[in-house]
Amino acid sequence: MKRLMIFRIWVFVFIVSLAFGQIAIAAEKLTKIADDVYSYVDTKNSTPQNSYGANAGIIIGKDGIVVVDTLISAKEAKRFIRDIRSVSKKPVKYVLNTHYHLDHTFGNSEFAKLGALIISHTNDGNNLKIRGETALKNSNTYGLTEKDVKGTKIAYPVLTFNERMEIDLGDRKIELIYFRQSHTDGSIMVYLPDKKILFAGDILFTGYHPFMGEGDIEGWLKTLDYIMTMDVEKIIPGHGPVSTKKDIEDMKDYLIAFDKKAKELAAKSDNAEFIASEIRKFLPSRPEGAGLILWNIQMKYLKK
Ligand SMILES: [Zn+2]
Repeated sequence: MKRLMIFRIWVFVFIVSLAFGQIAIAAEKLTKIADDVYSYVDTKNSTPQNSYGANAGIIIGKDGIVVVDTLISAKEAKRFIRDIRSVSKKPVKYVLNTHYHLDHTFGNSEFAKLGALIISHTNDGNNLKIRGETALKNSNTYGLTEKDVKGTKIAYPVLTFNERMEIDLGDRKIELIYFRQSHTDGSIMVYLPDKKILFAGDILFTGYHPFMGEGDIEGWLKTLDYIMTMDVEKIIPGHGPVSTKKDIEDMKDYLIAFDKKAKELAAKSDNAEFIASEIRKFLPSRPEGAGLILWNIQMKYLKK
């Protein structure tokens, strides 16, 4: 009787852990955006260990695979590669870094090992060279433990461009577009004209408070205006679910509201906590990234 009881408990624990395990795995799988286009989107786990919920995706063509962003560490990149291999066995030809931030580039070296050519905008290639090693050395500041970044090495872009570049995968073309300074001074977009899909990187945050610490608001708004003129139906943000032009408008409203209020408040106070609590009253509520509000104020509006 007792044995049966223990067995039942064991079975129950097994089923529960299996169920939760399944949920966790399901949330991290690549989502099919269109034929031969996949991305992580709407990741519910935005911990540093899970790349702050950053989206990364792939585009598969006749000649091989293009990877858009590489997540935060070697460990995360390996997870990404496993998921890529469950979708396609083609060679990974190119890695595109939408910008240099760690949650989008620190997995680069795992793809370099596969022979992929890493591409970015010239400015963000330089930014990674200037700031990458220090960020990796101080990864605990970003909530990462030594174990989280074990084996992580920075692999720099080997090919950079300034305005536009095109990649031909044999049966489809991919356009890399730099408009102007926005989230960083080298943030690019990846456009698939045949599918009307745009990977916007961190130019768009949907459902997340954005990181604005290095942002150029004027250029960012103009970049968002430019996206409004593009022939796009699905937009993959840097963080958040598959989005549309409605989310681009929301992003514009957010940046305008934040910038206006932050400037007003920073003229009267240098208390970041106070400014953050005041500014929250004017911002839409978003489920993720609220901690960034304080960072944005400290880095962008209170820097002396
Ligand atoms: Zn970023």
